[in-house]
Amino acid sequence: MQNQLLDQKQAWSDQLNQWVQETQHFGEKGNFVDYIPDLIDANRTDLGVTVMGMDGTTLHAGQWSTYFTLQSISKMITFILACLQRGLSTVMEFVDVEPTGDPFNSIIRLEANHQGKPFNPFINAGAITISSLLVGEHTEEKLESVIDFMELMIGRRPHINEKVYRSEEKIAFRNRALAYFLKETGYLEGEVETALDVYFRQCAIEVNTTELALIGLILSQDGYHPFTKKQLFEEKIAKIVKALMLTCGLYNASGKLAAFVGIPAKSGVSGGIVAAVPARNCKSKNPFPDGCGIGIYGPAIDSIGNSYAGTKLLQQLSREWELNIF
Ligand code: GLN
Repeated sequence: MQNQLLDQKQAWSDQLNQWVQETQHFGEKGNFVDYIPDLIDANRTDLGVTVMGMDGTTLHAGQWSTYFTLQSISKMITFILACLQRGLSTVMEFVDVEPTGDPFNSIIRLEANHQGKPFNPFINAGAITISSLLVGEHTEEKLESVIDFMELMIGRRPHINEKVYRSEEKIAFRNRALAYFLKETGYLEGEVETALDVYFRQCAIEVNTTELALIGLILSQDGYHPFTKKQLFEEKIAKIVKALMLTCGLYNASGKLAAFVGIPAKSGVSGGIVAAVPARNCKSKNPFPDGCGIGIYGPAIDSIGNSYAGTKLLQQLSREWELNIF
């Protein structure tokens, strides 16, 4: 019985390795964003993945242990934290939950919509608003609560990549423009520069794919941490986050995510993707019928800002293991 399980796990690992090899080359077509110069140090064709199940079964392939910065994936974490700290109704007064179809750093809808209310917490405008809502007057306090919350999820106090933080903070003129506009329309609390500083630093928090997979797993279990056996946040919040992941998680490629992958996922411009796969017993090819989390890293991104090879890998995984929720 034990041997059979080991054989099965090996077979899944082999599949994962094969799919990484098959999709890795897409990285050559990708690029890096020019406004965070330090991200350019990454290796274009790196591709790594971790898949983690409820019983702790963990499968890895490729450069799964490489550390990289969260970037936009942090938006999901601060949104949950703001809901925990301030309550969902207060948060909803400041951000909506509607997809935009625009690039993540677009400014155009801010003036057109409800006198400046950001469409959702996953575009930059909404995420900067959320950073401003975190409890604490100064950057340190707000950021400490983000790190504390991440520690509850991943079991380690993550560290901030100072170099990446500085390289973005120096030339983030568009994010500054968004933040000052939000202040003018009343959708940013406290000091503008504090909210921005928290935002740039949360984007520079480092994780690897195993930690992303664990975060995905917790979301797939509606906020319940299967290893520490603690409910970290309400089921209601987890469901909103997953809805946001599916409708806004890959920026203006989210429709394609829903159509061709069918798994709630969130990406960042450093090439990370986290996905939350719900429990589903009806599919025979799915190795994780009780749900799983997926963490992917592939640093070269497409023109929309999503990992080029990473999205291909996620699509293949979803297709082969029949993880599509629809
Ligand atoms: N730090 C990046 C920014 O604010 C994050 C964007 C992203 O990952 N899409 O532009």
